[in-house]
Amino acid sequence: MISWPPPFLPAIPGNGLALRLHDTSSGELREVTPGTVARLYVCGITPYDATHLGHAATYVAFDLVGRVLRDNGHEVHYTQNVTDVDDPLLERAKRDGIHWRDLAVAEADLYREDMTALQVIPPQDYIGVVEALPVIADLVRRTIESGAAYELPNDDAEGPDLYVDLSHVSGFGSVSGWTREQMLAVFAERGGDPDRPGKRDVLDPLLWRAARDGEPSWEFDGLPAGRPGWHVECTAIALDRLGVPIDVNGGGSDLIFPHHEMTVAQASAIGVEDYARLHAHAGMVGLDGHKMSKSRGNLVLVSKLREDGVDPMAIRLVLLAHHYRSDWDYTPELLTVAQVRLERWREALSVNTALSADETVATIRAALADDLHAPRAIAAVDAWAEQTLAVGGDEQSAPGVLGRALDALLGIRV
Ligand SMILES: [Zn+2]
Repeated sequence: MISWPPPFLPAIPGNGLALRLHDTSSGELREVTPGTVARLYVCGITPYDATHLGHAATYVAFDLVGRVLRDNGHEVHYTQNVTDVDDPLLERAKRDGIHWRDLAVAEADLYREDMTALQVIPPQDYIGVVEALPVIADLVRRTIESGAAYELPNDDAEGPDLYVDLSHVSGFGSVSGWTREQMLAVFAERGGDPDRPGKRDVLDPLLWRAARDGEPSWEFDGLPAGRPGWHVECTAIALDRLGVPIDVNGGGSDLIFPHHEMTVAQASAIGVEDYARLHAHAGMVGLDGHKMSKSRGNLVLVSKLREDGVDPMAIRLVLLAHHYRSDWDYTPELLTVAQVRLERWREALSVNTALSADETVATIRAALADDLHAPRAIAAVDAWAEQTLAVGGDEQSAPGVLGRALDALLGIRV
């Protein structure tokens, strides 16, 4: 798929610090230590509805990961998938009486516009499942060859469905650290099918779904006509585009289980045990006490805010005002606070001379390198802006220096 245009990234003097990030798997802060190129994989959207603030918070968080790594002198190879064929998309298209492919294209376009407006640096590989089918089918075949897949017959399809046998996988549970009870509690609501008769383990993930009437399907050698399960797509795309180990494997915290657990299990099923060095997860954004979700319908859409004339930089500031791992509720007051802040920053950055910004830039760098502490970075800019407006300063270059740093590090173009 076509990615979106990259924002201009201003050069800033000096070098940023090495990034320490919270690893879900170990529960510890760990330094990201890439080789020549930092490999970043973040799970993308299922394009059946527009980007809400919860999505935007996740993609902005991992945008910060890329910015901090770049500022620390690394080249970043960023890959993101698009789940452009899956049950929720097919169901929505059927409900709305449109072709699933048209729905996916329209929503993926809107997502690209939202990401562009929010100054999110695009992935080099922005890969739809449909275009990656040959690569995914190859991984499915390798899973069969390794003996880690099994077939389940169907009443409503000609070929069998394929499942991964989790007893052939090593380290299952190591990503989430969850107990089996915790896994079973969310498996069904997050796309799993524990009640499917004949499964060797109720948690075994669907690998390949045989063609049903009215559902899209594809034919590959050695496989029944059908389409891939959800988790295998990310494993296949990541192995194909990035290779292992991925330095940071990321997504929203609702992907910890089953998605990321199963993604790693898929890799183990074909003998790849060093899938990712670090798994990072962003918190959930809620509205009125409930997680924003399509099924609940309590969405605050980025595109709607933009349509209403809200400055995308104010939207980004709403997101950055929360630490990426925290769960928080959106309120219109948060947007007002961000708008006032943005105005204040603009005012302070438009003065002719100001206080030196060197310490503020250093604080931003230190805050972001410390598990992406954007709220602390924002507080430092607030303090600089208030002091500049109250007391003034005599450095001509300061507003330019800070303005470029805000753009390069926080993605806020003032
Ligand atoms: Zn994924």
